[in-house]
Amino acid sequence: AKTSGRNLIRFFDMGMQEQVTARAILGNELREAIQKNQFVLHYQPQMNEAGCITGAEALLRWMHPRHGVMPPDSFISVAEDTGLILPIGRFVMETACAQLVAWAARPETAHLTLSINVSAAQFRDQEFIDHTLATVKSSGVNSCKIMLEITESLLLNSLEGIIEKMFELKTRGISFSLDDFGTGYSSLAYLKHLPIDQLKIDKSFIRDVLTDMNDAVIVRTIIALAKSMELNIIAEGVETKEQRELLAKNGCFAYQGYLYAGPMATEELEQYMQQLIAK
Ligand code: C2E
Ligand code: CA
Ligand code: CA
Ligand code: CA
Repeated sequence: AKTSGRNLIRFFDMGMQEQVTARAILGNELREAIQKNQFVLHYQPQMNEAGCITGAEALLRWMHPRHGVMPPDSFISVAEDTGLILPIGRFVMETACAQLVAWAARPETAHLTLSINVSAAQFRDQEFIDHTLATVKSSGVNSCKIMLEITESLLLNSLEGIIEKMFELKTRGISFSLDDFGTGYSSLAYLKHLPIDQLKIDKSFIRDVLTDMNDAVIVRTIIALAKSMELNIIAEGVETKEQRELLAKNGCFAYQGYLYAGPMATEELEQYMQQLIAK
């Protein structure tokens, strides 16, 4: 990585030179990546029981000049620690809204919704609401097409301000999905107080759902919970027909996973949709 000005200042700091870890280098590369627009969104289809695509999840990719396509797990935590998740998150929101507007302009794609991942650090940022609403407004997107995916980590510490923010977005038509559901540690009590529309069953429960009794019980319990609270339910990481059949048998009719397709560029998604129609 190139030595940025910021890095030089730290260089003179006693002992800092040894502490220049892979994470620090990555942080500098991320800063550069933001300036050079090296991020793109890929889209993974979300399917219903009839095999029709209802929407997609936007998944961030870093087109690294030397390492190629970098998945988010390799840099999101550094982006969160450095605060760079804020400009990256703004890019995600702007790109996602622009994509929805492009989809809305064509009859074949007009119905698609888009799920957007928002990390706790973004949501807690005081400018998040203003930027999100400003982006929605200036893009002209129909906010009913937007679903924000939050995780239980957002709900772990103080809920203060969080609920108000959620309602503020909710009243503007934006919905919420609770991602990675079942993997967190917080109590279920919060579910009653939050304007959540959807639970997303974490892929770690889906993987062995056919062979692991515990996973099967957890999946059934989450589906029953969603039903009793009148929440929508979607399963991620659905890779086989058998997994989908078990989910359907238990009342889950929305799926995302390699059984259908992985995340892909928008042109590929449009091709994928044409293939679905041709079938
Ligand atoms: P996530 O939100 O839980 O996203 C689902 C992950 O599962 C994605 O990994 C997706 O590519 C992968 N996946 C999809 N189908 C299957 C399947 O059938 N089997 C298996 N094993 N995996 C599947 P990805 O794209 O590498 O993203 C990793 C995580 O990075 C996401 O997990 C999310 O927490 C975070 N992330 C991605 N995009 C963004 C973003 O724009 N903003 C923020 N804050 N976080 C993001
Ligand atoms: Ca997600
Ligand atoms: Ca997830
Ligand atoms: Ca995850």
